[in-house]
Amino acid sequence: MTAKKALITGITGQDGAYLSQFLLSKGYEVHGVLRRSASASVIDERLKWLGVAGQVEMHDGNLTDITSLLRIFQDLRPDEVYNLGAQSFVKSSWQQPLLTGQATAMSVSNMLETVRLACPEARFYQASSSEMYGRIQEPQQSETTPFYPRSPYAVAKLYGHWITVNYRESFGLHASSGILFNHESPLRGIEFVTRKITDGVARIKLGKAKMLALGNLDAKRDWGHARDYIQAMWLMLQQDNPDDYVVATGRTESVREFCRLAFACVDLNYEDFVTVDSKNMRPAEVDVLLGDASKARKILGWEPVTKLEEMIAEMVEADLERHKKK
Ligand code: GDP
Repeated sequence: MTAKKALITGITGQDGAYLSQFLLSKGYEVHGVLRRSASASVIDERLKWLGVAGQVEMHDGNLTDITSLLRIFQDLRPDEVYNLGAQSFVKSSWQQPLLTGQATAMSVSNMLETVRLACPEARFYQASSSEMYGRIQEPQQSETTPFYPRSPYAVAKLYGHWITVNYRESFGLHASSGILFNHESPLRGIEFVTRKITDGVARIKLGKAKMLALGNLDAKRDWGHARDYIQAMWLMLQQDNPDDYVVATGRTESVREFCRLAFACVDLNYEDFVTVDSKNMRPAEVDVLLGDASKARKILGWEPVTKLEEMIAEMVEADLERHKKK
């Protein structure tokens, strides 16, 4: 049997790297769409970290340029398409709202049109986000909870979510949307609060920094491990019917509690090192998110396996190693 072909956008990001590793372990041929940039030498840093950099094939393309996508899809004819590429940092979406609209919203139309025109049999995964719940309308959010986006990023993701649903209903595409709650790992970008904290813990422990300035310590998130969450993406595409699924742990903790746990990993008290700087605050905040993944459990048989404390320990350990090598 010939290997199945998977095409991943956002392959150099946290989820793209873990998903590549997972699909390779399942015998897939893994391809990535790569946006060429001047910083090309660091693009596959995460894939290298996971030891799979040489095993994926990269194709030059850009999510905002449908012609580049059509060319790649016509040549490759992928069986499964994972659309993980986006401008994904919430705070930057206020600074670059139009770019966010193009890279996070319109790009999903480009991808779906490309699938429809070039390989309508392919199965499509859209990376939707718990940020779409924003000012939450129910204490625990499921697939039926109304959305209330609170940032240009969340508004753009909402477009991506609904256009995926619409192409499924309009054209019968096997298109699924995974509403993933925050998911972290040692490969999380440093601009996100979890990595900023574990990196800060490592610096402080090693005497490379004295303090760590954060923003809203009272925000609460349902944090899981990216390695667990990418498996839910794959499971969605193995179902006979496409659908939408919430992927979450069902536990929510504050940024403050995350700090406490991370500093405790190196026997320090976060209160001695964490300060609040208003420059890290946002024009509109998402105060609390808590997911209900019952549907994913029931239909996909998916379960998160990594506990928050284990994930934080893994992240702190990895950042200590990185800083010791520097
Ligand atoms: P998001 O949920 O996708 O926005 O993920 P982030 O990791 O960027 O932010 C999670 C929460 O942490 C938000 O409510 C932020 O306001 C809060 N937060 C507090 N301090 C910081 C900080 O210094 N950086 C970031 N990125 N977030 C912070």
